[in-house]
Amino acid sequence: MAEIRVELTKNPKAKPTDESKLGFGSIFTDHMLIINYDEGQGWHDARIVPYGPLSLDPSASCLHYGQEVFEGMKAYRAQDGSIRLFRPEENFKRLNSSNERLSIPHIDEELLLESLKKLIEVEKDWVPHQDGTSLYIRPFIIATDARLGVHAGHHYIYAVILSPSGAYYASGLQPVKIYVENKYVRAVKGGMGYAKTGGNYAASLKAQEEAHELGYEQVLWLDGVERKYIEEVGAMNVFFVIGDEIVTPMLNGSILPGITRKSVIEMLKSWGYNVSERRISVDELVEAHKNGQFKEAFGTGTAAVISPIGELRYGDTVMVLNDNRIGEISQKLYDNLTGIQWGKQEDPFGWSVKVCE
Ligand SMILES: *Cc1c(COP(=O)(O)O)cnc(C)c1O
Repeated sequence: MAEIRVELTKNPKAKPTDESKLGFGSIFTDHMLIINYDEGQGWHDARIVPYGPLSLDPSASCLHYGQEVFEGMKAYRAQDGSIRLFRPEENFKRLNSSNERLSIPHIDEELLLESLKKLIEVEKDWVPHQDGTSLYIRPFIIATDARLGVHAGHHYIYAVILSPSGAYYASGLQPVKIYVENKYVRAVKGGMGYAKTGGNYAASLKAQEEAHELGYEQVLWLDGVERKYIEEVGAMNVFFVIGDEIVTPMLNGSILPGITRKSVIEMLKSWGYNVSERRISVDELVEAHKNGQFKEAFGTGTAAVISPIGELRYGDTVMVLNDNRIGEISQKLYDNLTGIQWGKQEDPFGWSVKVCE
């Protein structure tokens, strides 16, 4: 393993005092991790340095053609005082899968995990203490070649920045209102929907804005070809409880393979629930709602963990779920996943990874 150089800041910032006002993604810690890639040298010069602006040539290809990928994960201050990650090896595996799609060179996953642990150790006092808070982790890669030709880069920067973040649910789990998007699409099979890359988010902003104007918090994306089958919600995967079956759309190339999604499937199966990964159409949801079989819906993702859905609107059809209250399965999953993440309960799956005491 390459040595990771550490250069500590001479001007440490004051840490936030009121953790109830942290919000999301606007405060950053004192240091960041950088690894460079240069053709011929590979990934090299892993280092922890003071947090600050990156210097880029204005012609840097990431700025023009969007050759970039990212990840999103959290470090948790567990009940025993240790700092932990949740399935970090899955995030780094997915980063390389995104890299592959975006023609970015593969990066050693062991180096990614070791260097992240080292960064968190340096920044451990920035991991907030209050219930529900965490240190959000944003790894990303950008192509930095200074040329306007459309080519895969020969030079890249991998960086990790850290942001202490507030409890997602300041006042308990809250059901959200979701708009089924029938005008715009997020991704198509053969595109880059399964990769965590900025362009997918750029493509989603317009729909998100229009849904907001109608009073909905997020959009539910349909497939890009027939606009019939469910894909996912904003930055979350989605599950539906229909009768005694729990359904989530199967991974098809245009859906982001969430690690929370994967964990929810494994957890539900371990409890003996009937879980299917299959194609599911919005018409099937409307039908199940009419028949009283559509019992619960929820989104899954690192930020919210579980986000119960209280209302779904598709054209003129409004489906209110479980009287706009949190469903039994949503609540149970939330309690057990967060219980493992914050070390409040047994971790039979071995998902929680200790970084330091
Ligand atoms: C990150 C992301 C998710 C959720 O993935 P997790 O690994 O569970 O956080 C779902 N959909 C999209 C589009 C995403 O970017």
